[in-house]
Order: sequence, then C-alpha cells, then structure tokens
Amino acid sequence: MAHIDAGKTTTTERILFYTGINYKIGETHEGAATMDWMEQEQERGITITSAATTCSWLDHTINIIDTPGHVDFTVEVERSLRVLDGAVAVFDAVAGVEPQSETVWRQADRYDVPRICFVNKMDRVGAEFHRCLDMIVSRLGATPLAIQLPWGVEADFKGVIDLVKMKGLLWSAETAKGEMYDVVDIPADHADAAREWRDKLVETVAENDDELMELFLEGVEPTEEQLVAAIRRATLSSALHPVLCGTAFKNKGVQPLLDAIVAYLPAPTDIPAFQGHAVGNEDQAVERHADVNEPFAALAFKIMSDQHLGKLTYIRIYSGTLETGTGVINSTKGKKERIGKIYQMHANKREERSSAAAGQIVAVMGLKDTTTGDTLSDAANPVVLESMNFPAPVINVA
Ligand code: GDP
Repeated sequence: MAHIDAGKTTTTERILFYTGINYKIGETHEGAATMDWMEQEQERGITITSAATTCSWLDHTINIIDTPGHVDFTVEVERSLRVLDGAVAVFDAVAGVEPQSETVWRQADRYDVPRICFVNKMDRVGAEFHRCLDMIVSRLGATPLAIQLPWGVEADFKGVIDLVKMKGLLWSAETAKGEMYDVVDIPADHADAAREWRDKLVETVAENDDELMELFLEGVEPTEEQLVAAIRRATLSSALHPVLCGTAFKNKGVQPLLDAIVAYLPAPTDIPAFQGHAVGNEDQAVERHADVNEPFAALAFKIMSDQHLGKLTYIRIYSGTLETGTGVINSTKGKKERIGKIYQMHANKREERSSAAAGQIVAVMGLKDTTTGDTLSDAANPVVLESMNFPAPVINVA
C-alpha cells in the first residue's frame, strides 16, 4: 500500500522478478546483466496483470494484493485490506509520508493489519531515511522500528546495514553478481551509528514486548532468534512497524524486504480466529480458523474480466477447501453458486487447480451472483464473514 508514485508497482514487479520460477541465481548472461532492468522486465514479460499474484520466498507462499494509492480508489483499498493479513507500506524517501499514505495507513488501522514499512527511492536526490522515520511518528502517530540503516544515500546509496544481524548488505547494481546481495562487515564509518541504532532497536522492542524486556532488565543481550521473535510479536500486535529501506529501481533492498515479510508478517495460521456471524443473525458469532478440515468459507474481494477467461472472481479462502465443480452458497445473498475453474494467479501466468484451501488466494470462474464483499461458504455450514480483526497471536520464543 502506498501513495501514488511511491514505487509500489516497481517494488512489486521486482519482487515478482526475484521470486520468479524462471529466475535462478547465476543464470543471467552478460547481455541481460548490463541491460536496464525495465527492458529486462519487458523482455521477460513480468508485469502485474492480475488483482492478486502468488509467489514464493524461503519456502513460504506470499500472496500479493495490490492496493491502489489513488484517492479515487479508497473503497477498493478497503476491500483489499479486508483480506490482507499483513501489509507493506511503501514510502518515497524524498516525499516521506504523503496524504494518501496517511489515508491507506488509517484504513489499515481500522482492520488492524500488521505493517512493515519500505522507504523506497533511496537513490533519489533529496532522499532522507531519518526524516521519513520522523514523519511516520508525526503524521501517522505510529512507532517505527528501524531494522536497517541506509548505507550511503542518493547516487552513493550502496546498500543497507541490517541492525538485527549487525551486518552490511551490499549490492553492486546492474551487474550479474549484484542481483544477489553480499553480506559484509559493517563499514567502519557506520559502525558507531549502527551500534547506537541497534541499542535503540533492542530498547524499543523491549518496551513493547514483555519477554524481551525480561532479558533487557537482566542485562542479557538477546540472540538473533530471540530478537526476531520479539519483533515479530510486536509487529503482529501492531505495536511496532519495522522499517526497511532501499530502491526498487536498482534492486537494493528488495530481497531483504522479502526476508522481512517472511520474518515479521503473519501467516494465516498465526491468526487465532476469523470472525463471522450466522446467516440472518448478526448477533450470533461464528469463528473460522485457517484449517483445511473446517467447513469452507471465503470472501470475494475483486471481480475482474479477463480477455481470455471472462469473469474471474478473486477470493481469499479462510477455512476449508474448495473443489471445482462443487456447489457452495453465497451466504451474503442467499444464492447457490457453482465453482467452475480455479486458478492460482502468478505474475505472468496462471495455473489451473482442481482445488484450493484455507490461506490461499485464487481466482474462480463461473460465479454468477457474487460481487465483491460477499462471503462464499459451505452450503451446510453457512457463515457471513466480517471485517477482520487481528488480535495478538501467541507464538513461542526459542
Ligand atoms: P506506484 O504508483 O506506487 O505504483 O509507483 P510506480 O512503481 O509506478 O513508480 C512511480 C515512479 O517512480 C516511476 O516513474 C518509477 O520508475 C519511479 N521509481 C520507482 N521506484 C524507484 C526508485 O527506487 N528510485 C527511483 N529513482 N525511482 C523509482
């Protein structure tokens, strides 16, 4: 989510490029390596053509839903936020927090969506990471947690310093090697600042996490594992928002951003329960869990017309499984629906599936009466899903 022009599309396309199944490290030949990335992108045809796209990173499946940043689209943003478990707020390092960043941030507040922040465009003249942190406090009233420091700025932006691992991550942009980062020792001229910010990080996390506070009070330096777990808990409860930086333009910081999505944003199974109510009775609460053995329940969040497939309904499945050719009920409208084909949508291709399960986002063909916001459920166990709330989950620390 972002203000228009912050770099949401570019960042997403970079993510799709680096998580692409065709992309393997070391495969880039000389020609492609020196080519401008946008040309590469066009050549490989990696553009976001669907409302939701699925990719994988570090053995995790990540579903990306685009939330338009323009003021005209706020209803659509709301619909997207409703089905998100976590969000990445993208900021322009020069402009910082802009009016629409504020709007989408407040909308995400309404749905208690845990967020991490990506300060993009660190290569631009006038980029200021720390000013952006200050604006997250003053404009959004949120508590940012810098988990990285920029290493250089503008044309000299070299990479990031990871304050959790206390390592430097260095890229040499636009070389084949630069497509993955090197992990190096923190440069001497950044060492003092890094230590200072690391201390600040541990203190801020401890203030927002009892388990880390105990270690902190005992004067014990947390292990990386303990620190990551504590940051994750504080992020999931929306007490803190980890902040990273980089530039989507030249892929400095996009891969650590993916690492952070996996480390700090919730999986569906981290969310204790999804709230709904019985059909025709809003006072009778019904809970659903990210469990394939529960009755099927899903929310339609976007209808799109595909030039080859016709009408596609994007759904997020909260519980149970869905199979092609079966009947379900649109419990919002009280209408029966038959599931035609089910597609998993990727950046530049779609994969037909015979079934889909809790936690997944898929596009379904053949739904007649379903519009965005409707709940689809198992006919024998109908439920109407409500706006999602994300209470702090319980996670054990190593
Ligand atoms: P969106 O509206 O948030 O989806 O933003 P886009 O991804 O379309 O980017 C808006 C503009 O900023 C485009 O002209 C991009 O080429 C440019 N842009 C995106 N990321 C970066 C970056 O990291 N550095 C610089 N200098 N420009 C960027």
